[in-house]
Amino acid sequence: MRGLTKAGVEGGRNGWEDIGGLSHIRTAIQEMIELPSKFPNIFAHSPLRMRSNVLLYGPPGCGKTHIIGAAAVACSLRFISVKGPELLNKYIGASEQAVRDLFSKAAAAAPCLLFFDEFDSIAPKRGHDNTGVTDRVVNQLLTELDGVEALTGVFVFAATSRPDLLDAALLRPGRLDRLLFCDFPSWHERLDILKVLSRKLPLSADVNLEVIASMTEGFSGADLQALLSDAQLASVHELLDREATGERERIPIINDVLLKSVASKAR
Ligand code: ATP
Repeated sequence: MRGLTKAGVEGGRNGWEDIGGLSHIRTAIQEMIELPSKFPNIFAHSPLRMRSNVLLYGPPGCGKTHIIGAAAVACSLRFISVKGPELLNKYIGASEQAVRDLFSKAAAAAPCLLFFDEFDSIAPKRGHDNTGVTDRVVNQLLTELDGVEALTGVFVFAATSRPDLLDAALLRPGRLDRLLFCDFPSWHERLDILKVLSRKLPLSADVNLEVIASMTEGFSGADLQALLSDAQLASVHELLDREATGERERIPIINDVLLKSVASKAR
């Protein structure tokens, strides 16, 4: 379990500027977290309940974990992040206690974003686990989520690439009832992600990221990151083979190498 961090300070995490695309998710999160704290009077007099619990779902590598870390930084929330399997303990009562402890810790740390990554591993449909551990964890999560409304400044987020595996009771109104879909990026989003990822990478002048975005349909953000890393390494080898690189500190990604790398990975 990663400990409590004042997001962006001890954690050294990224902010919105490190997220490419996903603008609909960013807007939804900003509405939920930032508006009520900026305009507390408007929301205090609203008869409607503000939804502060979110499930992000979508294919692996499409930025679910990344954007939640950025949200905590951008909204200056303390951040408690736990990967589902880390909570599971075969000893009776230990996993439920760990869930209780997390929610207490989040309440004490408010304003705080409590994030469950790989949520399907701790919250699958009940009645299928011979050990009964995940059934008890789901029951505990239900209890805690029902109580979280009374806590001010605790935002519960969860992420999964397998929403079909989750126990449906967790998604009922008042629990994780705001569902946000993180899909494979569109052309514009791929271009945006490539720009964000290459901000600190030297690119040779003839690299055209629009062309790369066109050639990478079906790539996730994680695939694009892997592509640039591979191309960077291959560029180093290429230059080492071609010439003595001397004292050069930053070797740019070479266009031909990048195109070759894209072609080898294209779906
Ligand atoms: P999983 O379901 O496997 O946990 P995920 O959807 O949570 O995947 P992330 O872990 O957020 O995916 O993404 C992996 C890496 O890919 C990130 O650390 C980041 O470097 C890069 N990445 C993914 N999407 C984006 C994006 N939209 N903008 C910038 N970087 C991205």
